[in-house]
Amino acid sequence: MRDSLRLGTVAGVPVAIHWSVLVIAVLLAWGLADGVLPQTAPGHAAATYWLAGAVGALLLLLSLLAHELAHSVVARRCGVEVEGLTLWLFGGVATLGGESPTPRADFRIAAVGPATSLALGLGFVLMAFGLDGLGAGNVVVSVAVWLGTINLVLGVFNLLPGAPLDGGRILRAVLWKRGGDRDRAAAAATNAGQVVGYALVALGVVSVIAGDSVGGLWMVLIGWFVTAAARAEHDATVSQHVLQGVTVGDVMSSDVRTGSADLSIDAFVHGQVLGGRHSAYPVVGVDGTVVGLVTLAQLRGVPPRERVTRRVREVAVPLAHVATAAPGDPLAELLPRVTAESGRRALVFDGGRLVGIVTPADVSRTLETRQLLGRPEPTGR
Ligand SMILES: [Zn+2]
Repeated sequence: MRDSLRLGTVAGVPVAIHWSVLVIAVLLAWGLADGVLPQTAPGHAAATYWLAGAVGALLLLLSLLAHELAHSVVARRCGVEVEGLTLWLFGGVATLGGESPTPRADFRIAAVGPATSLALGLGFVLMAFGLDGLGAGNVVVSVAVWLGTINLVLGVFNLLPGAPLDGGRILRAVLWKRGGDRDRAAAAATNAGQVVGYALVALGVVSVIAGDSVGGLWMVLIGWFVTAAARAEHDATVSQHVLQGVTVGDVMSSDVRTGSADLSIDAFVHGQVLGGRHSAYPVVGVDGTVVGLVTLAQLRGVPPRERVTRRVREVAVPLAHVATAAPGDPLAELLPRVTAESGRRALVFDGGRLVGIVTPADVSRTLETRQLLGRPEPTGR
């Protein structure tokens, strides 16, 4: 995930935090110090509440980390590579480098997360009782109760049966085991995810009407996020299924026209673009190696009077920001890597030599043709 700070490696998994975690940590500490604790444990100084709030927020972030680490560790044990783990606004995301080999592995990787949250929740509640019995201060007991409650809620929330929530992954594993078709199961789980998302939005709206505007709006936001993530995952599942066996070389356009990165934009437009039929051009340095990609939209973005003085290199997307592939690579693996910055285009190299370009039009034409030929879609319905 971009804008993330690398923290280090825990149990062999690279862990990072997104800047939004700082916002959420401050909000959590504030909520505890200013809202929860003065009510549940009255009669203390503000400094005490803030100290307890900070400790509580930190322990909650560590709980989220434990949830994600549990997914990562079990995934690794099941033979699924884990690229890293990032904590952000909505909790954590463990980036898995592959798919579960079996329904059983899929189930175990998904289920261990909510199981960890529920166990932590129970642990904190028991700890609260224990601390209370030992005569610990009411602030400490309140923080433990708060941590227990939130972990229990997180455990239950994540069990909602719709991907991308863990419950959706569990649903996928069960359907996969029963029907024997992973793609169909995944599509059904992401469809369920959209239903869960809409239900959360509806519930949030009802809460707002009933007078709980903060909680309600929060639920609308989460529901909207779940719906969007479920839809994106559904589309990815469908195209991955339809594109099975299709390589980059099958769809690329090999008629690529390159231009010099050191030309002025005006010279480039007159020499290359006018009369051409492409909307993106790989650009090369003096030694002929590809240094980037320029799209018509980027050229158009330069005001006409600057086009004589500015060079193409200044507006082109550097090669490091353009997805690249070899002709033999599976197309489905390339698609998640193309960026909006490069106009969703990818460059194809064979042994260091530029041999083609993949455009959104190439991809959608292939998708439609394959669907036309009747490759069954995993609609899951
Ligand atoms: Zn999880």
